[in-house]
Amino acid sequence: MIMGLTGGIASGKSTVSAMFVDKGARLVDADVIAREVMLPGSPVLAAAVQQFGDEILQPDGTLNRARLGEIVFHNPEARQLLNGLTHPAIRREIKNRMYAWDQEDPRRLIVVDIPLLYESQLENLFQDIAVVYVPREVQLARLMERNRLTPQQAESRLGAQMDIELKRSRATYVIDNSRDPVYTRQQVDGLWDRLGLS
Ligand code: ADP
Repeated sequence: MIMGLTGGIASGKSTVSAMFVDKGARLVDADVIAREVMLPGSPVLAAAVQQFGDEILQPDGTLNRARLGEIVFHNPEARQLLNGLTHPAIRREIKNRMYAWDQEDPRRLIVVDIPLLYESQLENLFQDIAVVYVPREVQLARLMERNRLTPQQAESRLGAQMDIELKRSRATYVIDNSRDPVYTRQQVDGLWDRLGLS
């Protein structure tokens, strides 16, 4: 059984994914895959070097993420180019992994954590999508605290994503992570039952 999981930045996706894993789910993490497709030797990294030059590499041949980030940060065209190289590979790898695991054991829950699931139009990969929700003020406060950001920096990160209320309205299941972790875990337990996994 496959379920997409998303939310906003710092809404608690990793926290909730870990709770599902504790209960026995398997996790496909899009952030991990996004790093894997840029490892030395991968065709995606080679294509990125061809596009942006050797300066995006560290002396040891690994990706200089900060440098690449600088290049695309203020340049929407470069960003689009980069996304055009990385997104198809990430999408392919997500699908490969989740379908392989699902075939292996169709009764086991596979949680697929994709931060930009809606923004990247990946909704139709999933029948069920859980959104980890907190109100915007809580999201801002947790983001500032976790990443040591000023209110302006945190606002600008939030501004680059789809509004969390809109994500919530599109969800099959909403997990409210605005209170303490015990309350969140109760909802994870509740969803586990609802999915017939107990
Ligand atoms: P995401 O994966 O969505 O970016 P995280 O799971 O990393 O979010 O959570 C963001 C921050 O909020 C982390 O510092 C985490 O420890 C904290 N956090 C998550 N859930 C709660 C909660 N219920 N109460 C208080 N802090 C929380």
